[in-house]
Amino acid sequence: MRLRDGRDRSLRRRHPWVFSGAVASTKGKPQSGDVVSVVDHRGDFVAWAGYSPHSQIVGRVWSFDEHAVIDEAYVAARVTGAATRRTGIASNAVRLVFAESDWLPGVIADRYADHVVMQVSSATAEPFRGAIADALASLPDVASVSERFDGDARRREGLGDRDALTRGMPPAGLVEIVEPAGRFLVDTHRGHKTGFYLDQRDSRAVVGRASEGRKVLNLFAYTGGFSIAAQRGGAQSVVNVDSSQPALDMILRHEELNGCSASRCVNDNVFTYLRTLRDSEETFDLVVVDPPKLAPTAAQANKATRAYKDANLWSIRLLKPGGLLATFSCSGGIEAALFQKVVAGAAVDAGRDVEIIRVFGQPADHPVLMSFPESAYLKGLLCRVQ
Ligand code: SAH
Repeated sequence: MRLRDGRDRSLRRRHPWVFSGAVASTKGKPQSGDVVSVVDHRGDFVAWAGYSPHSQIVGRVWSFDEHAVIDEAYVAARVTGAATRRTGIASNAVRLVFAESDWLPGVIADRYADHVVMQVSSATAEPFRGAIADALASLPDVASVSERFDGDARRREGLGDRDALTRGMPPAGLVEIVEPAGRFLVDTHRGHKTGFYLDQRDSRAVVGRASEGRKVLNLFAYTGGFSIAAQRGGAQSVVNVDSSQPALDMILRHEELNGCSASRCVNDNVFTYLRTLRDSEETFDLVVVDPPKLAPTAAQANKATRAYKDANLWSIRLLKPGGLLATFSCSGGIEAALFQKVVAGAAVDAGRDVEIIRVFGQPADHPVLMSFPESAYLKGLLCRVQ
């Protein structure tokens, strides 16, 4: 794949994507998933990449080393290397492989106790899925590997449906995991993402420690990660709001598992329920706002910004003086600076002084590759509202 003059610049800075507009010509009729060499306009080597003819991102880099041989053994070594870098994480539920950050484009692998769930969402990685599953299965203490599909991401890469791969015996029921904030049951077959929001592990621990004696409102509660953290941290009470009844039902099971019972669950649309709370004049000492990915890419940022502003504005209004707001965005399309502006705008409209007392990001098993800022998607602020 020969690049246009000057279009090797981002790759020379080790950004791992080749955009279709950067390509001058392609020689040798590569097929989806084939490993191609990327050269600059003079013909000098730039990178080895996987070919994805149906995507805007026509190439995803495997390596910038001209001498690398990209084969199953190479990919397996990358998987093992990524997994062994996950040290010092205080949980038996860990992201082992985080895609481009681990130079495994479009590959996710999460460990829940002895079970690993993998997702392959790039044409680049698709031909290597068997080797990836084998490498994961051969890690210490792995009883099973099973595959789930991120349909949207696969469609963008022109990848159709196929049978899921498995190694070993995947869990028949829920898998119990332990992290600093509590014990949780994970549905690796039907739960969100690969089953659980591992990326909020550190934030849950911080919110737990900040919860002592507080009346907590947990918006977009899912299965109660923040609720359990808050209760174990000594919250006086917790109100969980989510529009998914199965998710709310899990909160009760999580309370049993953790020996707590200080919460109430409300099945409602958060944006509606915030107005119900306003009318009831109920106030809180800590509000957690952790919405789903409202802007996967920058194209949806405008609309998403309005929703973030709305949720934060009404949350700030419900806080007592000195109350805490733990607010998050996992939208890749909204950068940290923009997110902070949105929360600042909400504070102004609420007529309250708001101080940032902590900045949240991704935990160590979701590393941000500096040459690939797109790998930073999760941001959050812990704010004190005056
Ligand atoms: N805080 C959770 C993760 C939140 S995921 C944790 O740490 O585990 C987002 C959740 O928001 C999902 O459970 C989804 O059901 C819920 N949701 C999405 N849109 C909603 C809406 N408008 N009102 C209420 N819940 C919503």
